Amino acid sequence: MSERHQSPAPVKARVAAIEQALEERGFPVAESIKEFTTLAEEKWIPENGARVVARAWTDQAFKQRLLENGRAAVAELDLAMPVHHRHLVVLENTPTLHNVIVCTQCSCTAFSIIGLPPDWYKDFEYRARVVRQSRTVLREMGLDLAPHIDIKVWDTTADTRYMVLPVQPPHTVGWSEQELAKLVSKESMIGVARL
Ligand code: FE
Repeated sequence: MSERHQSPAPVKARVAAIEQALEERGFPVAESIKEFTTLAEEKWIPENGARVVARAWTDQAFKQRLLENGRAAVAELDLAMPVHHRHLVVLENTPTLHNVIVCTQCSCTAFSIIGLPPDWYKDFEYRARVVRQSRTVLREMGLDLAPHIDIKVWDTTADTRYMVLPVQPPHTVGWSEQELAKLVSKESMIGVARL
């Protein structure tokens, strides 16, 4: 047996080595991390998607445009998506259809619109099981769908991102866009909750 096998350095040491290598080549690591953190905490928030949903509920023409070309429609609300998120496909729930999204490969979401993925979204358990046992997994997550509601599961890819358009709760018809937006959660736009 070879004695040369070494276990990898701890994560901290590897991160430090990568940072050093980047800095030596003129890449501003500290500034980039700060910029990314600001984007993640202040810009990539589910309130963006909530605005989109509230607009769709109150403006039929906008909803049509959103369903036809999500990326172009959210730009009307000054919401940007990274260049590589080439398509935003908006999935409309109905009283008899429930959409749920997953990234079976890793953790992709339309994060600039619905916010960064929750930890459970990245878990192997969710990624594997929501595809095959969607009804059971949703029930375990607190969403017990009636048997007449069909479930469609959508697997995100690098360039096609999804968001679920929840059904507007009937008692909220006539509410203002701002009031409606407050109802819309990240979970409802992933499809593990209904409103
Ligand atoms: Fe992914």
